[in-house]
Amino acid sequence: MAGSPRVGILALQGDVREHEHVLQGLDVDTLRVRRAGELAQVDALVIPGGESSVIDKLSRAFEVREPIRDAIRDGMPVLGTCAGLIMLADTVVDAIDGQQSFGGLDAVVRRNAFGRQVDSFEAELRAPAISGAPVRAAFIRGPLIESVGPRADVLAQLEDGRIVGVEQGALIGLSFHPEISGEARFHRRLLAAVG
Ligand code: GLN
Repeated sequence: MAGSPRVGILALQGDVREHEHVLQGLDVDTLRVRRAGELAQVDALVIPGGESSVIDKLSRAFEVREPIRDAIRDGMPVLGTCAGLIMLADTVVDAIDGQQSFGGLDAVVRRNAFGRQVDSFEAELRAPAISGAPVRAAFIRGPLIESVGPRADVLAQLEDGRIVGVEQGALIGLSFHPEISGEARFHRRLLAAVG
């Protein structure tokens, strides 16, 4: 796999096209991932926003859950946005019965912490590691990062200090949706993590 990296987008459910659009704007080759065979063809993975309990169930139905867990453990760079962050968190609060995440991020994440769809909002974030213009973020029934363990670092916060972005090695988890506001810097950060 010489040359530019190929980024997979987990395409079981959620806003797959928006991530494709951002990545294609960065001239990156993308592949929709539903099965292990597709996962094996990519250098990094995006887990989109959507509904984490559905992504969880479908990942088992498509037998891609264990391969993704293995890939995370083996160091594959992964960007999870919103439901994707929930899938990356080691601990999920307010999950539905039996809901599991892939894990990997040493963080506690609470589902739907910002209320319902009608409570969606946009905000400017504190994200000192992201250079350039302030990050403006869209929150749509997003999860809150309640705490970050010693293996992970805070990447983004609301003005009031609530944590909405976390990073651990090659894993990036965001409570918000950079892909719907055309914010490409977190996708670039994912690409930078590809070895
Ligand atoms: N509330 C959704 C969940 O629990 C996440 C919302 C989103 O991804 N926009 O998965």
